[in-house]
Amino acid sequence: MTSQRTRERLIQRLVDQGISNMAVLDVIRTTPRHLFLDEAMAHRAYEDTALPIGFNQTLSQPYIVARMTELLLASGPRQRVLEIGSGSGYQTAVLAQLVGEVYAMERIKPLLDKSRQRLRKLKLRNVQLRHADGGLGWDGQGDFDGILSAASPATIPHELLAQLAVGGRLVMPVGEDRQQLHVVTRTDQGFETDIVEPVRFVPLRPGTVR
Ligand code: SAH
Repeated sequence: MTSQRTRERLIQRLVDQGISNMAVLDVIRTTPRHLFLDEAMAHRAYEDTALPIGFNQTLSQPYIVARMTELLLASGPRQRVLEIGSGSGYQTAVLAQLVGEVYAMERIKPLLDKSRQRLRKLKLRNVQLRHADGGLGWDGQGDFDGILSAASPATIPHELLAQLAVGGRLVMPVGEDRQQLHVVTRTDQGFETDIVEPVRFVPLRPGTVR
């Protein structure tokens, strides 16, 4: 199930759906998604679907991981990326191989504990993880040139916009019942927003769970 052929089939599917960034496709080809799932789910790791990770949360669909990563990198390489809703740590692992530093936040402690072990096992050392409400951003580490969220707020928290550097890009779902993937670029003049496509994510929730 985790064979090279199964993985190649997934990559071909992503290409067919319009993913064209070769670096992103290469990282998805070589990142062991099955390690981010419990054993009972691991055999489905290379299907292009979201899969349960417990606590009513899901590991994002490979297509959306690829799409958001591609959008984040579209205007050039990123040095410091804030990730909100790190969950299983899979998107975190993909980002860590493509950007300078990843600052990943997750509000559910048991998920974060597991993802910490996985990222350590994969020797991805340019990642810092924090158990906190990502809607407030990562105080003290402001000025990110990339922000990516896998949880959807009703509107983009101003704390996140405040932590986006000039030239930085924020990629996140926005909306409650109906969500749209937003890309916000900060310029000298202010913020420019592109609405990309409809998506389905879990809501961005306040506070933390121990
Ligand atoms: N990219 C992750 C997606 C996990 S689902 C993966 O592929 O595994 C989205 C995650 O966002 C959930 O784990 C949820 O707990 C988390 N989340 C929701 N609101 C949050 C918040 N305010 N701060 C941090 N994490 C949050």
